[in-house]
Amino acid sequence: MDPRPAVTNYTLAEFEAVLNTLGLEAYRARQVLQWVYRRRAASFGVMTDLSKEARDLLDRKFRIFASALSERHVSTDGTEKLLLALDDGNLIETVLIREGDRKTVCVSTQVGCPVKCAFCASGLNGLVRNLSAGEIVEQVVHVQNALPAGERVDSLVLMGIGEPLLNYAHVVQALRTWKAPWGLGIGWNRVTLSTVGILDKIEKLVQDRVTPNLAISLHAPSDAIRVDLVPTLKKKISELIKAGAAYREATHKNVTFEYVLLDGVNDDKKHALELGKKLRGLRCKVNVIPFNRVEETPFRAPSQDRLDRFVTALGACGVPIMVRKRKGDEIAAACGQLRAMAERTKPVDPTIAAERSAP
Ligand code: SF4
Repeated sequence: MDPRPAVTNYTLAEFEAVLNTLGLEAYRARQVLQWVYRRRAASFGVMTDLSKEARDLLDRKFRIFASALSERHVSTDGTEKLLLALDDGNLIETVLIREGDRKTVCVSTQVGCPVKCAFCASGLNGLVRNLSAGEIVEQVVHVQNALPAGERVDSLVLMGIGEPLLNYAHVVQALRTWKAPWGLGIGWNRVTLSTVGILDKIEKLVQDRVTPNLAISLHAPSDAIRVDLVPTLKKKISELIKAGAAYREATHKNVTFEYVLLDGVNDDKKHALELGKKLRGLRCKVNVIPFNRVEETPFRAPSQDRLDRFVTALGACGVPIMVRKRKGDEIAAACGQLRAMAERTKPVDPTIAAERSAP
């Protein structure tokens, strides 16, 4: 285990202070962070506007990243999954989704997940640990560094493994680093944080003036169905909808309600009508996500017919809807699936088109 702290774990102010204690000028901190976030530096050795002595000192005291790229899987539709190895041997995954010119990264915030949604591979074994701020921040940097020169990541979704608001402090630091001019410069209008509904932390985001777009996972039109799908978080549908409306009111940011459509569970026309009744009149959208099969769960993907019927009935209630396209099916793009598969198969399943990176 490398004892040196990663640069990605610091804010600019913190890094300035720590460099000062080492006898380096504060402005060196901004230089180093620009190399990391803007100039794709993977070592201090390439930072040629610093003296050799300063580079050697930095290299003895710090490393750039807390994680290393372990595997890169590329789907035929352009979706990419990066599997990142952490110091303690854990693996996390990050996904790049391409839509036209747009490049969106789906970020993980925890190793495993304590929420244990019934349909999700990530929650199967519960929480292993929270990710550090650096481990969250640098997922985007690893993806960006793998893009062709001159291309940049445009937008972020915190929809990977983990519940972001149960790792609040580190997620907030990551959001600030991504947005900062000394960081990646990705504004919060281009970031969506997805939560199962940690209500006090949604309010805290507003108080702390950290305001990405918000997605709240409903997955059910009624409390009776939701408690089976999200058994560890007993929040009423009405409370979740109220929290979304309040966030929208306070921040003017986009609020979306997510709904994973599961065959025979929550995909009936009557479910759409019940949901539509509860959401009518709100300035929020519903993101319908047709289930991606997860081997370890009993759930099935809805047929195209059932999907169409659900969407038509919900739309007739006046609720704006987006249907998420299936992306990266052959590289297991639903959250947690690649990591679960890598842990099952080690070494990687040869039927998957994969590119193993140099260590
Ligand atoms: S769907 Fe999200 S919140 Fe639910 S168990 Fe999976 S990672 Fe956790």
